[in-house]
Amino acid sequence: MQNTEFELVVLGTGAGASSVYHGLASSSFMLLHKSKPFCLVDLGLGVGHKVIQYFGEFPQQVIITHNHSDHSGDLPVVLRVEHAKGNKINVLAAKEVSKRLQAYRIAEHFQQISAEQLADWSEIEPYQPFKLAFGLSIEFYQGVHSELSYGFVLRDANGKARLGYTADSCVDQSLYKFVQQADVCILDARANRNAWHASFGELKNYLRPNTYIIGHGLSSTDAKEVLNFYPLLVEEQRLKF
Ligand SMILES: [Zn+2]
Repeated sequence: MQNTEFELVVLGTGAGASSVYHGLASSSFMLLHKSKPFCLVDLGLGVGHKVIQYFGEFPQQVIITHNHSDHSGDLPVVLRVEHAKGNKINVLAAKEVSKRLQAYRIAEHFQQISAEQLADWSEIEPYQPFKLAFGLSIEFYQGVHSELSYGFVLRDANGKARLGYTADSCVDQSLYKFVQQADVCILDARANRNAWHASFGELKNYLRPNTYIIGHGLSSTDAKEVLNFYPLLVEEQRLKF
């Protein structure tokens, strides 16, 4: 791995019901530059509290991959509280996902405040680079999921793909090829496959050094038992990218 100023911290690895039924934070990670958090990736149920626990405050940028509760469930509360504190968050999402978030996810606030007042909304065209911060740009790529969902690649100022994330998706070769351009890759999978998520076993042909699995919904203790077989991420884990 090259010398890098970028790093991520895993805040949760949960699946759809993990936060509500098992107290495990939803899948999410924080991006850091020179050890300082600058952008959160997904803000599902249980993630907001982890951000406060680990970092004490929210960054100004939040990437949302799709409008499922385990990826954006904490968004309405965080946007409202941060707005009141003077931190107008920039929500970065693929254009159609952004429209769904603005229309449905935050609808509970509309009697008091509009979407535009509440947050800045970067409606990003998929398959095109969009400037993020510190020379990084983000490019979204659609996955195969039960709700419109986009993975992404982060590229540095030289165009080198540094980090790839599928977000929620079942096995999709074109998506995997896209995210695996990157030095470090995070793939969504769980113990048992369903129509909308890959299983660990299905990823066997795609695993390589610096490829990791999130969204598995296993506690850190349970995950450690299968770590010899699959590179599952666990909460608090740090990856340089
Ligand atoms: Zn989902």
